[in-house]
Amino acid sequence: MAEGGDRVVVIGSGIGGAGCAALLARAGLDVTLLERNDFPGGKGASFEKDGFVYDTGVHAIGNGEKGPLGEINRLVSGDLQFNLITGGNRIAIGGHVAQYPLEYASDDSIAGIIEGIGARLENFDDCFACFKELITMKPASELEMLDEMPLKDYIDQFTDDPNFHLMVNSTCGMLLVLTYYQGSAGEFIYCFSQMAENASLSYPRGGVGSIASSYLEALERMGGRVEYGRSVERILVEGGRVVGVEAGGRIPADVVVSNAGLQPTVKMVEDYLDSEYVKWAMSLKSSYGAASVKYALDSEVVEYPLTLWMPDLSDKEMTDKYVGVFYPVPSIPDPGLVPDGCQLVLAGAVLSPNPKKRDLNEMVLDRIEDTMRMLHPGIDDHLVWKIRTGTDYIARISGRELGEVIGLCQDFRQVGKNRPDPGMPIEGLYLVGADAGGRGIGTEMAGDSALNVSGMVVDDVIGEEKDFTE
Ligand SMILES: Cc1cc2nc3c(=O)[nH]c(=O)nc-3n(C[C@H](O)[C@H](O)[C@H](O)COP(=O)(O)OP(=O)(O)OC[C@H]3O[C@@H](n4cnc5c(N)ncnc54)[C@H](O)[C@@H]3O)c2cc1C
Repeated sequence: MAEGGDRVVVIGSGIGGAGCAALLARAGLDVTLLERNDFPGGKGASFEKDGFVYDTGVHAIGNGEKGPLGEINRLVSGDLQFNLITGGNRIAIGGHVAQYPLEYASDDSIAGIIEGIGARLENFDDCFACFKELITMKPASELEMLDEMPLKDYIDQFTDDPNFHLMVNSTCGMLLVLTYYQGSAGEFIYCFSQMAENASLSYPRGGVGSIASSYLEALERMGGRVEYGRSVERILVEGGRVVGVEAGGRIPADVVVSNAGLQPTVKMVEDYLDSEYVKWAMSLKSSYGAASVKYALDSEVVEYPLTLWMPDLSDKEMTDKYVGVFYPVPSIPDPGLVPDGCQLVLAGAVLSPNPKKRDLNEMVLDRIEDTMRMLHPGIDDHLVWKIRTGTDYIARISGRELGEVIGLCQDFRQVGKNRPDPGMPIEGLYLVGADAGGRGIGTEMAGDSALNVSGMVVDDVIGEEKDFTE
């Protein structure tokens, strides 16, 4: 433990940073959170425009109050509430539509999904067996092996049914924001089996931004401080340990927890790190980015709360015109987000995480609009407003270069024991958020990291195991 105290600076108010800061304040540490934006939440922020509350991203929360985000909320006595996304979730691939009930672990539901996506009759048993394995959490040793296997190779062991493959590939795109050639089988099974068990796909009441806001409210209630518009330029190191940060002035600290991402954090302390570590950190890959169109509508145009729609990838005419879209309608689980009788639809599609490819972003945005027009004719006639955002926008709100959806990607070379250690090789410096310290889907990986990293910090600083489930 550092001499003289337990002052903690948290860099960034993304879900990981906000959750970790609140948990550290709960443990009695003196916490200051510095956020470069003038709003909280990073990629998980919400804004209001003309009476509609919309999110920076296109979100659904895999396990709602039964997952890590609910757990943090309970621990810090926050006021976060989740509404289930239920009543007609769908996956539509290549002209086939399957209903995706919240409770998709029952044999009847699995059979309904496999039939719905148009798997060939002769492949039914193999697809069924594969689905059953995908929703069964594995023991740690098996999961560790599967972590290093591409998801496609895992599916190949069961079936070559093209529609089943397309469904798993699309679902991997939704959960890990990677193709199933890249995504880790272990990580996918971890996410998919938890969701099947919890049957709790949810949307946070008041918008995704209410996750970070409720943690920050708890932080301030417990004596912590939040300062917006404070960009940390450098992390200060003396004698091999952190002593503070430079953020338009020097702020002393015994512990610094960075939610800025591994690579930006490395850049803030590069002079004090081993060159091999820097080389390795900079070589890690990010998830795909996303373009999204947010529609504020004056009536209820879309009747389903959540749809994943994929064109038939073998049909060139389709793929030239349309793009796979994930489109939740947050105002169905939370009508309070919109004026009476109105609707909010958020439609997103993945693309390479490169904000400089402006033309690619514009092309994908046009295709999202064409796809939504084809699926919901007349959607344009009900527009109050629409906002188009690309990877440059995601890069701007998260303070990272690439505009990736998740953070460092969960491919088969970068999960489990190959994920960065949240304890960086400088005493007193930690990472929190989607890049390190957690598992799961986007927001929940950031939340899981907050739970784990706050435990590590308390253990290191106070010098004893802290039971966060108390
Ligand atoms: C379009 C889109 C769709 C998504 N869909 C889903 C979904 O359906 N389900 C899901 O679970 N997840 C989804 N995600 C992913 C999820 O939002 C992210 O993985 C998660 O929010 C990342 O949280 P984080 O804690 O890692 O930090 P981030 O959100 O990356 O926040 C980092 C924070 O640190 C701040 N910061 C950075 N540098 C500095 C600095 N030098 N000084 C001060 N502050 C700094 C930033 O301003 C930012 O506020 C989606 C994301 C996007 C963009």
